[in-house]
Amino acid sequence: MAGYICVKCEEEVDINPVEEKVICPNCSHRVLMKARPDDPDRVEAV
Ligand SMILES: [Zn+2]
Repeated sequence: MAGYICVKCEEEVDINPVEEKVICPNCSHRVLMKARPDDPDRVEAV
């Protein structure tokens, strides 16, 4: 599960771009960007 942000309505959505279509469930926009870009040098504190 990856966090994505719709570039149109700016809602954060959880989708799996491999198994699901990359489409915003809120406004059906098809352009989403990663909410948290992969950064191998940074570890998120849980
Ligand atoms: Zn949207």
